[in-house]
Amino acid sequence: MSALLTLTPEGLYCPEAKAHIDPVRPVEKAIITHGHADHARAGHGAVLATWQTLDIMAIRYGSDFCGQAQAIGYGEQLNVGGVNVSLHPAGHVLGSAQVLLAAQGERTVVSGDYKRQADLTCAPFELVPCDTFVTEATFGLPVFRHPPAQQEVAKLLTSLELFSAQTHLVGAYALGKAQRVIAELRAAGYSKTIYLHGALEKLCAYYQTQGVDLGPLELVGRRGKELQGEIVMCPPGQLSDRWSRRFGDPVAAMASGWMRVRARARQRGAELPLILSDHADWDDLCRTILETGAERIWVTHGAEEALVHWCELNGRKARPLNMIGYDDGEGADDTQLAAVVSAS
Ligand SMILES: [Zn+2]
Ligand SMILES: [Zn+2]
Repeated sequence: MSALLTLTPEGLYCPEAKAHIDPVRPVEKAIITHGHADHARAGHGAVLATWQTLDIMAIRYGSDFCGQAQAIGYGEQLNVGGVNVSLHPAGHVLGSAQVLLAAQGERTVVSGDYKRQADLTCAPFELVPCDTFVTEATFGLPVFRHPPAQQEVAKLLTSLELFSAQTHLVGAYALGKAQRVIAELRAAGYSKTIYLHGALEKLCAYYQTQGVDLGPLELVGRRGKELQGEIVMCPPGQLSDRWSRRFGDPVAAMASGWMRVRARARQRGAELPLILSDHADWDDLCRTILETGAERIWVTHGAEEALVHWCELNGRKARPLNMIGYDDGEGADDTQLAAVVSAS
């Protein structure tokens, strides 16, 4: 049991600092790891986060998303009720952070969501040695091994060449994934205008103010068939929505770690699945657990059982948190996991 952290109905809680981390209900004091809606909710009394996460929350919820917001830079230390609190890059999305709680020689890290794969749109994951490590397990099964992002983006560019008369519609989450796909396309040399569904506009614009170069972007607006041969980015839900019919017969692509699962790709209406995830895959989850040196591992949202079992085999004390309320949209659900397990 970590001395610094307990589990309450609202989520992870540090009694000494009187602060919750990524609470799923409104609380007095919250430390927020990143801007995804399942971690960053509106209505807290006070919020401590990186300034980019605070900006993203303000973009999503309006500037009055909490009573009092306090920004803290990566690596900066803050004493909260005798606990040293600091934030460290998680490599997940812009502004994403792991929370380090340190007091009386005890170090606990809450990783939020994280990945080890390179990402052109955010600071790389920083390894933080600790005694207790709270890890996500969104892709916590050995079948999940994410290919390099470049390889997946190359599939999209190849399709664009082969089917140059069709619009290529790419479903991607509005925070993080959409910008990462665009940045990878630019890195691969694609310099044409990329068209955006309106739901992606604000966060893409924000990334650009933060120095992430996304190249020329334009809103789709009223355009449709005239965008043949072009790339259009949209939220995943729009792929099979009426909205997509304006493009005639588009090639539907979807960027997600879940695209590894064929049934999931079909269900999403994605003919061109791009396996592109902002979460650690199985190898990186295991590697990170070992590298932190932590003796105690708490496992949250995802395939907890498999990772808990692996931890125990490797001499670590592990505990599944079975918390409800976390789902990035990329998160797990039982039917998907059943499909993976039966396919493996
Ligand atoms: Zn997330
Ligand atoms: Zn998450």
